[in-house]
Amino acid sequence: MRAVVYRGVNDLRLETVPVPRIGAHELLVKVAVCGVCPTDIKKIQYGTVPPPRIFGHETAGTIVKIGGTTSNFELRTSNFGLRLGDRVALHHHVPCLDCHFCRHHAFAQCATYKRTGITAGFEPAGGGYAEYVRVMPFVLPGVVKIPAKNSFAEGAMLEPVNTVLKAVRRLNLLRGDAVLVAGQGPIGLMFTRLLQLAGARVLATDLLASRLRLARKFGAKRAVLASQLSTLNPQLDAAVVAVPSDAAVHQALQLVRGGGQVLLFAHTRRCAPVEGRETRAERRKALTLDARRLGAPKLSEGGSTLDFSSICLDEKDLIGSYSSDFTLQAEVARLVFSRRLDVRQLITHYFPLAETAKAVALAAQPKPDSLKIMVLAGND
Ligand SMILES: [Zn+2]
Ligand SMILES: [Zn+2]
Repeated sequence: MRAVVYRGVNDLRLETVPVPRIGAHELLVKVAVCGVCPTDIKKIQYGTVPPPRIFGHETAGTIVKIGGTTSNFELRTSNFGLRLGDRVALHHHVPCLDCHFCRHHAFAQCATYKRTGITAGFEPAGGGYAEYVRVMPFVLPGVVKIPAKNSFAEGAMLEPVNTVLKAVRRLNLLRGDAVLVAGQGPIGLMFTRLLQLAGARVLATDLLASRLRLARKFGAKRAVLASQLSTLNPQLDAAVVAVPSDAAVHQALQLVRGGGQVLLFAHTRRCAPVEGRETRAERRKALTLDARRLGAPKLSEGGSTLDFSSICLDEKDLIGSYSSDFTLQAEVARLVFSRRLDVRQLITHYFPLAETAKAVALAAQPKPDSLKIMVLAGND
């Protein structure tokens, strides 16, 4: 089969690899579509994991083989009612729900969760940028059937929507609360809509004017350029920073009122040098640039220093959220498949499998008209 193999930093190659062999109670899924996710881009551009790997974890496709089952009974009981020919959305991380971290609802820290249960070959890494993937038994509870009226692409959006709903649930919101969503890319727009559904009044910001119109469509009460935010001086109860900008965090901390919360969603790259590719100096430079773009926050010489007294005296919470919450999966499926959160408007580009590198490049450097990018593994 054809697969796009990660061979090193910024090196994705279309190769011919064996169709994965499956064992008992495993699935072979013919991939239809796979979303391009920022976390994959980070791995490809910064080489944070060793090659070779086949990335892509926002995967939807058709079950074409079920391993080692001898009867219909076994099919029903062991494989969560999944059948040959079912159109499904896959979930590559499933927590144990039992360990110390899971009991604290910090699923992304669970050892079982950290294992990747879907592969197209090599070290399991999702495998969605390939024609077929093998789905291991421990992630079967995460497989969701896609209703006939919904597309594969809608199914592939369950994973990113899940990460956003999980983050929204970390906020302590009352109906009518004012919430800033900084950044209106696909993730920010999902925040805008899910927060609106939760009863919040959303103030949306972005650097691109084209995205502000969309933000209003997705339920923002107000949408302004990021540079205008400081002059508005809004009264905020919470802020979601959906861009990897330290300056935006400083600004959000200043803008939320006492008792408010600031949630970090896009700070997924550690500050320490990542295998020599990012230095603290580069990070500081980026911070200064961001601060200038936002036209605001005062920053110390050393770069990122927080005024901890605002957290203590003003009782502001600074919280992070990473990855998905498996226990929300049924609710996420309802939101997406009912189109209360209509993800179809978020998908702007489809690339054939052979052009995965182009898809990743566009997702990494979005254009005014680009949002969520999908790779089509089907006929191309
Ligand atoms: Zn993802
Ligand atoms: Zn666990």
